[in-house]
Amino acid sequence: MAFEGLTERLQNAMSKLRRKGKISETDVREAMREIRLALLEADVNFGVVKDFVKTVRERAIGSEVLESLTPAQQIVKIVDEELTKVMGEEATALNKSPHIPTIIMMVGLQGAGKTTTAGKLAYRLKENDQARPLFIAADVYRPAAIEQLQVVAQQVGAPVFELGTDVDPREIVRQGLAQAVENKNDYVIIDTAGRLQIDEKLMQELADIKELAQPSEILLTVDAMTGQNAVNVAESFNQQLDITGVVLTKLDGDTRGGAALSIRAVTGKPIKFTGQGEKLTDLDVFHPDRMADRILGMGDMLTLIEKAQTDYDEEKANKLAEKMQENTFDFNDFIDQLDQVQKMGGIQDILKMMPGMNNVPGLDQIQMGPKETGHMKAVVSSMTPAERTDPDLLNPSRRRRIAAGAGRPIQEVNRMIKQFKESRKMMSKMSNGNFDGMDQMFGQ
Ligand code: GDP
Repeated sequence: MAFEGLTERLQNAMSKLRRKGKISETDVREAMREIRLALLEADVNFGVVKDFVKTVRERAIGSEVLESLTPAQQIVKIVDEELTKVMGEEATALNKSPHIPTIIMMVGLQGAGKTTTAGKLAYRLKENDQARPLFIAADVYRPAAIEQLQVVAQQVGAPVFELGTDVDPREIVRQGLAQAVENKNDYVIIDTAGRLQIDEKLMQELADIKELAQPSEILLTVDAMTGQNAVNVAESFNQQLDITGVVLTKLDGDTRGGAALSIRAVTGKPIKFTGQGEKLTDLDVFHPDRMADRILGMGDMLTLIEKAQTDYDEEKANKLAEKMQENTFDFNDFIDQLDQVQKMGGIQDILKMMPGMNNVPGLDQIQMGPKETGHMKAVVSSMTPAERTDPDLLNPSRRRRIAAGAGRPIQEVNRMIKQFKESRKMMSKMSNGNFDGMDQMFGQ
């Protein structure tokens, strides 16, 4: 899971502070030493770590923090704010040209996820802006590159302009752009060639394409799993092409955090999107504040809520949010949710984004496939409508009746009702902005 080690070590450093009533300067220095090591071990750029630690230490040692009633919380807040700053503070939107087409040039090393990301981006533009993108296949070196783009484009439902592998990429781009103008495509996504390593000839070719296409956006795709190497790649591409943004891919993998935390500070260019999987829908806007929360193990509730909103209609999502807040979420909603959860990629994906869940042992063992969902549904359908809306009615004799009706053991029914009530409490707390007590809930 991404950032696991970093999150754990940062949380350890913080909880040591939390256990002390009064915090001294020495305590802060000690905590900062641990944070420094945690960041270095997560492969964060040395210079970035140095500046970060210095800023946090200076802010934390200030008397208004140490003499406040809640010094540990204040320090957590400072760390959270500074992590956000390192990653750029605000989400950065895609550049758009004042006249069509908006040209997006995708660049990056081979295997970083350039073609996949081009597809995800086109999908996103089509879904959100009803755009009509055209792909230009300008990678003539890797034998299967054009076919790969065609497969992706077909999934997206967008055309590809290609001239095979024998034509110079500059010429392909020139003709592709002419076709986009003729067909009134509002976006053009140029899939350029990659290499295993940065090389002069490729950079010259990319610079030429940039010169002739004048793209509004040069998006560099880098693989988050490669840590510092991703940062070096970003630095070189930026020096040579003056990129406009970065897409950090494979954040669904076991990445340590170095790339996410260093790229902005080292290159000065924003991470605009993150890739979170291989599917077309696995592209998220990069929000530095949410990423900082996630790294600190405070979860990513907003992304979760957004995910919920894109996967079902807004009215339903709003109603749900209201119910969570008012603590009136009932068993009917619960069943609805089970169905939605399956659609959204399963419970593990969702739990990973929730506050405090990074460190919950046994998360990977949670079984919530169609079979388990089926059992839960059977239990709920054996309840009367009144019981479904008011779980407090569920006394022992009603529970026995429900277990018999659903053909499930009574222990399972009891467990499910208990979990339901606890999650309801938790949802109401979280949707009111209170994340305390989550750790107790999971027996930590
Ligand atoms: P390119 O050579 O840069 O065009 O890279 P590709 O688009 O061919 O991607 C290389 C591999 O990485 C493929 O197997 C993709 O499915 C995979 N990939 C791309 N983005 C992601 C991501 O965000 N998460 C994961 N897990 N895999 C990804």
